Amino acid sequence: MKLYNSLSRKIEELKPLKPPLVTLYACGPTVYDYTHIGHLRTYTNIDLLRRSFEYQNFNVKHVMNITDVGHLTGDDDSGEDKLEKKAKGSGKTVWEVAKFYADFFEKSLKALNVLLPKQLVKATDHIKDMIALIQQLQEKGFTYETKEAVYFDTSKFSSYGKLSGQKLTEKLQQARKEVHIDAEKKSPSDFALWFKKQGRFADHEMSWESPWGEGFPGWHIECSAMSMKYLGETIDIHAGGIDHLPVHHENEIAQSEAATGKPFVKIWFHNEFLLVDGQKMSKSLNNFYTIDDVAKKKIESMALRLLFLQTHYRKQMNFTWEAVQAAQLAYRNLQDQITALRQQKERTSLSEDKLSKVDDFRKRFVDATSSDLQIPQALAIMWELLKSNVPSPDKLDLVLDFDQVLGLELVNVKKEQLPQNILELQEKINEARKEKNFEMSDKYRKELEDQGFIVEDTSSGTIVKKK
Ligand SMILES: [Zn+2]
Repeated sequence: MKLYNSLSRKIEELKPLKPPLVTLYACGPTVYDYTHIGHLRTYTNIDLLRRSFEYQNFNVKHVMNITDVGHLTGDDDSGEDKLEKKAKGSGKTVWEVAKFYADFFEKSLKALNVLLPKQLVKATDHIKDMIALIQQLQEKGFTYETKEAVYFDTSKFSSYGKLSGQKLTEKLQQARKEVHIDAEKKSPSDFALWFKKQGRFADHEMSWESPWGEGFPGWHIECSAMSMKYLGETIDIHAGGIDHLPVHHENEIAQSEAATGKPFVKIWFHNEFLLVDGQKMSKSLNNFYTIDDVAKKKIESMALRLLFLQTHYRKQMNFTWEAVQAAQLAYRNLQDQITALRQQKERTSLSEDKLSKVDDFRKRFVDATSSDLQIPQALAIMWELLKSNVPSPDKLDLVLDFDQVLGLELVNVKKEQLPQNILELQEKINEARKEKNFEMSDKYRKELEDQGFIVEDTSSGTIVKKK
């Protein structure tokens, strides 16, 4: 499997540390707001990555965190904790806020048929692991303490900036009046590992005892602590949105590698942004859509997944309602073709020629998914297969096989129970059409209609439905 590695800026063959095991860590949501379709695009692409490995018989250990503490509104340790901010004045506790949005997140993933990680782990359940890691960093001299926090000293980690390619000196602090910044913090690139429950955080609802007094962890440390706990000190793939690359992932590398002295991640997998009508999603533009908004427009979540599949993960994608409506039509068409294939005759043995064709389709599909996850190409191969002259039962088997990667729930397309005489009429229509005897096929079609059924064409043959 070849993948683009954001760290080397090259496409590389992944050589897992312990094949057939592949360790995959994905940064999860901060559960202070609704999961939107931009997040869902990222998690769908990570799902496609996982499924592609599994299709090739790798055993993927997939871990994801749920951030329910410590993620501040500012990237530079400024601002407030996002969850505490949300809970304030809402009449809910921080814990209730976290639970509500974590549930919505899970519901959204399930709607998109995203396979849930083997471990979906909460930051608040891993405070001890984070404290232990901070202590390890402290013993090795990578931290310093102020009245307000414990910081990671980026000047002590010589390769800081290797992921984003930004030099330390280029990281300038944006001076904003309303923002509180610890006067004792030495450099803008240093980042908090532990915040103390005092000053601006004196009223922080979530807090724990620690060697540095009562407080709560910074955001970045949770991913290092949980990733190492469940997957080991070096993992095969770390995935996330491209917005996490310059700060969050840079900091994860620094603190992990400083603690262990080993490479943290083999391949960094980053997903590009989703735009809505050519613009960044935001509440102020009122273009912040969730799975519920999609359902309100009578669009199935599988149509949204099909739309995501049409753009490569490293390309920006522009979401429009027109595009997702077109995907809905395409998805119906796909479902009809599956029904048509299910309604066709039993298997006959494959000729040598057709057999090699089936093998060729399968090989091309695997090549596409293995070449930096070219899912749009894999999807095109599936449509091409549907149009091909591969016999129906084999076509159906192969499409359902491909769907283990694509995840379009095609296996759930039901086989309608049609009366025997209707099936016979359908068969006669197919035969007559094959012989280009349109008079006869029309006659049978009318007979079928008189009995309350309609016949429709798809590129995989006819499909019969109740009127
Ligand atoms: Zn993370």
